[in-house]
Amino acid sequence: MFGVNLESSNLDCFMTENIDHSEARGFDMYEAELAVGIDAVRQAMSVCEYVQAQVTPEAMEKRDKSPVTIADFASQAVICRSLGLAFPADPIVAEEDSAALKEPEQKPFLDRIEQELTRAGIQGTVNDIYRWIDQGNSQSYCNRFWTLDPIDGTKGFLRGEQYAVSLALIVEGMPTVAVLGCPNLKTADGQSGVIFSAVSGRGASCQHTDENGSPQPIRVRETSDLTQSQFCESVESGHSKHDWSAQIAETLGIVADPVRMDSQAKYAAVARGDADIYLRLPTRPGYREKIWDHAGGVLVVQEAGGTVTDIDGKPLDFTHGMELATNQGVVVTTGHHHEKVIAAIQQTKPKSNK
Ligand code: AMP
Ligand code: MG
Repeated sequence: MFGVNLESSNLDCFMTENIDHSEARGFDMYEAELAVGIDAVRQAMSVCEYVQAQVTPEAMEKRDKSPVTIADFASQAVICRSLGLAFPADPIVAEEDSAALKEPEQKPFLDRIEQELTRAGIQGTVNDIYRWIDQGNSQSYCNRFWTLDPIDGTKGFLRGEQYAVSLALIVEGMPTVAVLGCPNLKTADGQSGVIFSAVSGRGASCQHTDENGSPQPIRVRETSDLTQSQFCESVESGHSKHDWSAQIAETLGIVADPVRMDSQAKYAAVARGDADIYLRLPTRPGYREKIWDHAGGVLVVQEAGGTVTDIDGKPLDFTHGMELATNQGVVVTTGHHHEKVIAAIQQTKPKSNK
């Protein structure tokens, strides 16, 4: 669901490009952006967790998408509201827009979103809620903007498995601040809910979602023997070609089966050393990856020492609006064997992807 709101997004760009961000780039090194991002993602995660806990087996059975709709919009409202208060001139390129909520039959959803926001301590009128959601309606590339996936991995959310809240600040085309909330990943000591964060040039960390959670630096693991690598991929074969990844694994002599997991939690798995490789292989040539599905995860992995490119070994290019228009697929590794993985991808490329 993308709102066509080019007028306001162009205006956003104009305003942003005329603002002096040197202070944010200089001495304080994006500390304010990181702090606001972590607080906002933490608050959105708590809304999502509450809604996910209400998903009954019957709703799951019926494939009722209502919970994800409620949590998705509420998460976007929470985060865009916080960013709007702290950085009013920053455009936000987010996945949802409020148009779908404005139909009369959507009133029950709107009521539930309002309830969830109130539960999170946020009071607002219906128009406030629309406004917060639509702060995420920017679409075009700017020198400085945020990108947000309020719930990445909606299928995982509905199954009670992995999903993520992914937020990134892009500056001059580069993911510069990232906050990746993974409510169903566990910390090293077994507590549920991890927030990964990174600032360009300053490393990556993870912390428990709890307000008192202290950030611990993370690092990709050493994978000296490529054949012992653990790779991960989407649960959904419609999002990444499973038979192709099996061929790549065979070519590289990788013995372990892939770990399948929804959302950008896969980036987190590589960044903190649970896995060595994440392959996202195009299921059809025309599909263009969305920036909000990657920006947060990319910076967390890069700052943890890993490497991210597309399937042709090109860096991901975040300067084309909502899509990674000049890239195909995504390849994430610990960095140790990246070129060999790319070579195996090229060698096994199906004719339909050439
Ligand atoms: P995952 O959880 O890794 O399966 O990825 C979820 C994301 O896949 C969603 O946020 C969608 O934006 C994205 N998606 C939807 N269709 C496709 C597709 N054909 N290829 C790749 N990604 C897709
Ligand atoms: Mg997504």
